[in-house]
Amino acid sequence: MTSLSDLPIRDDLRGKTPYGAPQKVVPVALNVNENTHPVPADVAADIVARISAAMGSVNRYPDREFTELRESFARYLGHGLTAENIWAANGSNEVLQHILQAFGGPGRTLLGFSPTYSMYPLLASGTGTGWIAAARDDEFELSAETAAEQIRREDPDIVILCSPNNPTGTPLSLATIEAAYEAARGIVIVDEAYAEFMPDGEQTALSLLPGRPRLLISRTMSKAFAFAGARVGYLAADPAVVDALRLVRLPYHLSALTQAAAVAALAHSAEMLAMVGEIRTQRDRLVTELARLGYQPHRSGSNFVLFGGVADPHATFEALLERGVLIRDVGIPNHLRVTAGTEEETTAFLDALAALGRPGAPVNSLS
Ligand code: PMP
Repeated sequence: MTSLSDLPIRDDLRGKTPYGAPQKVVPVALNVNENTHPVPADVAADIVARISAAMGSVNRYPDREFTELRESFARYLGHGLTAENIWAANGSNEVLQHILQAFGGPGRTLLGFSPTYSMYPLLASGTGTGWIAAARDDEFELSAETAAEQIRREDPDIVILCSPNNPTGTPLSLATIEAAYEAARGIVIVDEAYAEFMPDGEQTALSLLPGRPRLLISRTMSKAFAFAGARVGYLAADPAVVDALRLVRLPYHLSALTQAAAVAALAHSAEMLAMVGEIRTQRDRLVTELARLGYQPHRSGSNFVLFGGVADPHATFEALLERGVLIRDVGIPNHLRVTAGTEEETTAFLDALAALGRPGAPVNSLS
């Protein structure tokens, strides 16, 4: 049988492993930060009607400029943005890939602050861009000084700031984003995949866009909009950045069905986002209850919580799985990450974790 190493694959891809969050069918899946609430039935019916109408012209290529969708995103984001400021693709992963294709590539570098979203180094490697893992402060925080100092020292072509950060949940202050922008010579991306879950009072970087043409803010419908399976991510930036992304996208990359579904969902954004408050409540409950059980949860502005104090993350992960609860071992020593689910799912996780015994002790296995 042929193995990967027998193939004439690019040298820089040899030995690499693909993105691989486990996809298992379990009663309680809290492992990939999905919104576990389904799309409301009346909104789903409207989306199906729009898709059905789009089927009438699916023999033709879709609107390459996805103009109606860009107008819908501009309206949703507000902040004086117009369709010219908006880009979109099949998930924000593809948006990020477009950015790296246009602004990264061989001989160029992308800098992020570890631990951060595991796809960044993979997107860098896929586009031949060098990856620089910069450090965070204690408690996974990132001050303006720490960010700016490392950006000046490493002088990357692209900086990516994840706010709130995956897998730690840490939101960034606007002061850190401004300092990173001032220190950077090139593109600065703020990945706001989880922005809608931020506590009241935390501000989005959208307010920093005017006068900052190198600032790019990526968003997704996968999380707050409960639309992960539809694959829709988007970006707000200066219109010149959007022109740059047109150079690298595949023609007609957003299908007519995807465009129809997303436009319909955005027309119901209030209802689609109705669950965000409930998810934040479960997130805050996780923080309180994990601490009560003796773990060390970290501050989170997203729909998941990273918690420390886990003596053997692998054993705890497996013991929870035995009890039908799937969470995520993100490779940080003594830590695990859990997504805030519905009230029932969150209860099922907390009960299963409590049944494993005290944090420092060997876990109680079912078998
Ligand atoms: N950014 C961050 C920080 C994420 O956690 C994720 C998904 N887990 C994404 C981007 C990509 O999401 P999608 O491609 O579904 O938009």
